[in-house]
Amino acid sequence: MTQTTRPELTKEEITKTAGMIQRSRPAYGALIDFYGQVFVAQAQSRIHIALDPIILDPALLALKQENGMPLVDPSQFLIDPAQAGILLKKLCDLSVAHAPKLAHTGEKILTALGKGKPELNPIFSVLLNNQDLEKTATLLDIPLDELTFFAFSAMAPSIQSCAVQLASYLKDAPEFKKGYCPVCGSHPDVAFLDQDGKKFLLCSLCAHEWETHRMGCVFCDSMEKEDQHYFFSSEEKEYRVYLCDNCHNYLKLVDLRKLDRSFFPKLEQISTLHLDYKAQEKGYKSPNHPPPGSTPLLA
Ligand SMILES: [Zn+2]
Ligand SMILES: [Zn+2]
Repeated sequence: MTQTTRPELTKEEITKTAGMIQRSRPAYGALIDFYGQVFVAQAQSRIHIALDPIILDPALLALKQENGMPLVDPSQFLIDPAQAGILLKKLCDLSVAHAPKLAHTGEKILTALGKGKPELNPIFSVLLNNQDLEKTATLLDIPLDELTFFAFSAMAPSIQSCAVQLASYLKDAPEFKKGYCPVCGSHPDVAFLDQDGKKFLLCSLCAHEWETHRMGCVFCDSMEKEDQHYFFSSEEKEYRVYLCDNCHNYLKLVDLRKLDRSFFPKLEQISTLHLDYKAQEKGYKSPNHPPPGSTPLLA
């Protein structure tokens, strides 16, 4: 199966890329300032993640691959509680300093976590179990989407580490050009064309990247030409937004051949919200709406 081998960006490269986007799109200045630091904190956390590998039963693996099923269910991802706890506190601190709209929630989570190790706090163990987020949001009296953002962002480095480890099971797998992630089954939240013009999708949950068909809708597999459209702006030739009239979903695509900076997908997503608005105005939706951990307007 074709997968990209793009190296992970270092914190210096993320900061540099964020600066380049800020200069070309000043309207996103404050948003990129906050999220750039969130992504740097996540990249630093990734380095320290210590998790046992997820071992898949060979018979079950063969069955899943024969049937085009993802390797795991998202609930099987492992979380490093110590690193997630450190990162959660860091993200709350960042929100207090740089994201006025999130600061109140950040402060409340910090208070709830107390002074000890976050991983020993019962509130924290509840956060690690997605099913109880709603209850915790009510308990802490904070909006659910904001709590989801903090909880997911703190767990993201663990999830991504698991996905990298699990991807080794895909090396000799049959071709998987589907619209959902071969690792965890989640939808992509952005697509890109690599330097050879091959089209890849990026998982909204585990950040795994996989190659897909160049034509047709990745969400409903429609290949009907009259159902598939796209729009772009002449000032931003590196982006296209694909629209499907069969399932009414849209997908943003970044053409790396036209990008004058390093590709850090999350930054490109945050700084192209105007394209989301335009697609939504035209009556299309994103299947990940709201994407996990993504509450960009809150900064
Ligand atoms: Zn995934
Ligand atoms: Zn479709």
